[in-house]
Amino acid sequence: MSPMTKTVEGNEAAAHVAYAMSDVAAIYPITPSSSMGEYCDEWAAHGRKNIFGQVLKVVEMQSEGGAAGAVHGALSAGTLSTTFTASQGLLLMIPNMYKISGEIMPGVFHVSARAIASHALSIFGDHSDINAVKQTGFSLLASASVQENMDLALVAHLAAIRTSLPFIHFFDGFRTSNEIQKIEFINYDDMARLVDWEAIDDFRSRCMNPEYPQLRGTAQNPDIFFQSREGSNLYYEEVPHIVQEEMQKVSALVGRSYNLFDYVGDPEADRIIISTTSSCDVIEETVHYLNGLGQRVGLIKVRLYHPFSIEHFLRALPATGNRIAVLDRTKSPGALGEPLYQDVCTVFQERAETPVLVGGRYGLGSKDFTPTMVKAVFDNLRASTPKNHFTVGIVDDVSHTSLEPGEEIHPIAEGTVRCKFWGLGADGTVGANKNAIKIIGENTDMYAQAYFSYDAKKSGGITISHLRFSPQRIQSPYLLIQSDFIACHNPAFLTQYDILEGIREGGSFLLNSPWSVKQMGTEVPDHMKRAIVQKNLDFYNIDAAKIASQVGLGGRINMVMQAAFFQIADVIPPQEALKYIKEAIKKTYGKKGEKIVQMNIDAVDKALGALKKIKVPKSWATAGHEAYLEVDEPEFVTKVMRPMLAQQGDKLPVSAFSPDGIFPTATTKYEKRGVALNVPEWIPKNCIQCNQCAFVCPHAVIRPVLANEDDLNNAPKDFVTLKAMGKELKGLRFRIQISPLDCVGCGNCADICPAKKKALVMQPLATQTKAQVPNHKFFTELPVMNDVIPATSVKGSQFRQPLFEFSGACPGCGETPYIKVITQLFGDRMMIANATGCSSIYGGSAPSCPYTVNEDGHGPAWANSLFEDNAEYGFGMELGVTQRREKLADLIREAANTGVSKELKEAFEQWLDN
Ligand code: SF4
Ligand code: SF4
Repeated sequence: MSPMTKTVEGNEAAAHVAYAMSDVAAIYPITPSSSMGEYCDEWAAHGRKNIFGQVLKVVEMQSEGGAAGAVHGALSAGTLSTTFTASQGLLLMIPNMYKISGEIMPGVFHVSARAIASHALSIFGDHSDINAVKQTGFSLLASASVQENMDLALVAHLAAIRTSLPFIHFFDGFRTSNEIQKIEFINYDDMARLVDWEAIDDFRSRCMNPEYPQLRGTAQNPDIFFQSREGSNLYYEEVPHIVQEEMQKVSALVGRSYNLFDYVGDPEADRIIISTTSSCDVIEETVHYLNGLGQRVGLIKVRLYHPFSIEHFLRALPATGNRIAVLDRTKSPGALGEPLYQDVCTVFQERAETPVLVGGRYGLGSKDFTPTMVKAVFDNLRASTPKNHFTVGIVDDVSHTSLEPGEEIHPIAEGTVRCKFWGLGADGTVGANKNAIKIIGENTDMYAQAYFSYDAKKSGGITISHLRFSPQRIQSPYLLIQSDFIACHNPAFLTQYDILEGIREGGSFLLNSPWSVKQMGTEVPDHMKRAIVQKNLDFYNIDAAKIASQVGLGGRINMVMQAAFFQIADVIPPQEALKYIKEAIKKTYGKKGEKIVQMNIDAVDKALGALKKIKVPKSWATAGHEAYLEVDEPEFVTKVMRPMLAQQGDKLPVSAFSPDGIFPTATTKYEKRGVALNVPEWIPKNCIQCNQCAFVCPHAVIRPVLANEDDLNNAPKDFVTLKAMGKELKGLRFRIQISPLDCVGCGNCADICPAKKKALVMQPLATQTKAQVPNHKFFTELPVMNDVIPATSVKGSQFRQPLFEFSGACPGCGETPYIKVITQLFGDRMMIANATGCSSIYGGSAPSCPYTVNEDGHGPAWANSLFEDNAEYGFGMELGVTQRREKLADLIREAANTGVSKELKEAFEQWLDN
């Protein structure tokens, strides 16, 4: 019987095995490992049985330290235990990891490897966490793909049972963890057949039991600690051999070959790369490509990273391989080299051999690692003196470590279709693509892969879906560089991003817009028009927003776009696809009721009639370059922020950044995202000037204006003002002003407006920009009137300038209005130790910062440390500021007694008193 295939993400593959092979899972969520715990929790809630015939006991703890402690305890009680974590979470487990290995216990941790926060937080993947626990006594086993996540997770559990030692099974966070692939599943009966049941009995018989009580965790003095610490050596010596045996058993079961080190490439390769995890798939794909061009190159995949078996490594290395590059996905500042490089150096040093051996860093914080970069590493090995301690994938114009990328290459298996989708967070694009990939993966023989990249906004940001479909196994764990099909789900993106970058000659482009061809003449940027014609693209348009709203789905255009995609992309016959989409709709929305199901089906049916192939005017071929707006903005915005916002941050060199990770504040005001569908229009005659709209706006987008008559002389003609109400405001003019391009369209302002007849009405964005963009610009140039009335009322507080504006928080966010009002009251004197969570993401995601400054340049100084130490971090700031103020007070007291003027002395005394 052929094995069952399923289209799943890497985390699900690992969790499937962890669930089967464990009695207890103690979990604590941390991105990108969290879903492993969630899967186990859900399966346990549905009563799934593990290989022991029991429901896995899943407990959520209060921290990662707590989860590791619980795993330690459960192991001590004789239960096979597991957990899932990443990054700082793994570091918090370190003390218990020493205990678990020291007490010779077979726990397994599944780690979606993630960068550790250093100069900045990164929730993305690298191996800095894994390398920080190399010394704990856990063996480290690496998976390179979603399929390996299943196969090698099983090896980790089987080997842990047989060695009675703990294992970390790791893979690339935010790549393998979140990549969706069609893989073969291993069923629980097959897993059970591979288990060494005697070893489990032996482990259980050593556990804590009052029937044969023992003492664990003694305190030992210098007389015995050292020698008893050496007592576990024989267990560790066995690890490589046992792992190899378990790999052979799993290989025989699944029909895929695994060894501690696997070699691929020319059997007589002279240049070899040594690497681990998902980079191996990229390198293997490139090795085959270069072998095809006659280059003698190869790759050693490191699977059992620690303990590093010299014997098995040398067995895998071709005798001809005398030029070697070792790649590490981590940085060890100040070290002689990165950890895997140092291991390989030790191999040759102990054999007194000296091949040409260099090491380099790649892919930190999930920096994409592509075939072109792999080729650069091989090209470097050709040099008479190859660059050592290099970086690849960045431009290092400061310490000059980077390799030149050289000519771009695009290895691709024949028949592969590559599709990219630009969507808006919460518009359903990602969900629709997940459906699409499952439809193709599960209903055809094709392999399918999906990866989703997001920007840092909590909502309303962009999502880019990268999908590949192929008749052959897909070994491309990197973002699409070339695409056959590109869809843009939001017309506002056309002017913000280079949507068509990488589309191939003759590819297809699908746009969701309400525009006629004539309107496209003014709305589509000229460079896109030229690309459409010059690359001979098939250009389709659909007004998905209109259809979604007609069928009652509001802004959720996903089904419309999905139907249009299958109609155009020709991955499977469109009629078949439609049948599968409708089945998927019933499955996904069935629980929500017949009405929701029908609305989605209607959306699909209507999409087919509404899809239009655009007959592109010939004149587009020569459309002139856009006149771009001369804007007065800081160099940081032009040189760093704009490229990052345009998804071109990968191209920025090292010198673009401050080495300590510091970014300027006051930069969201340059974004002008224009993401709202509807924005408020102010109806002056209805307004009672209460300022409640400004108070509730989560984004500081709607503001009351106070101005002197004289200041309004040059106001735009639509800048209507009213006589300001209130005795303190006599002689002033009042107005409510919004910034339409910063509004996210939540409608809170219009909802709260207490005027008898609403003074705010939500209107389509396009109807407001012409008047309100210049009005808002004029408003920002008016003198600030912060203190005309006390800030102790809602109305008074809102005349003050918010020093927190235009954040990427979700539309309608309930916490940002509070942050905003605090900055209105105290922002010019604030230091913020921001706890990790939503507020640190919308508050501190590079490149733009919503904390801003007043006309003196004063505003909140913001910092974030870690998850677990925020109160202490803030307390440290308080200690530091108090200490510095006390020193200042001492100096002022001293100065006051040195014969300064009477006025100055009085000023000193006043300061000291306050
Ligand atoms: S719609 Fe929301 S974001 Fe826009 S001005 Fe009103 S409250 Fe602010
Ligand atoms: S909430 Fe309504 S009435 Fe009050 S200031 Fe705003 S627009 Fe005017």
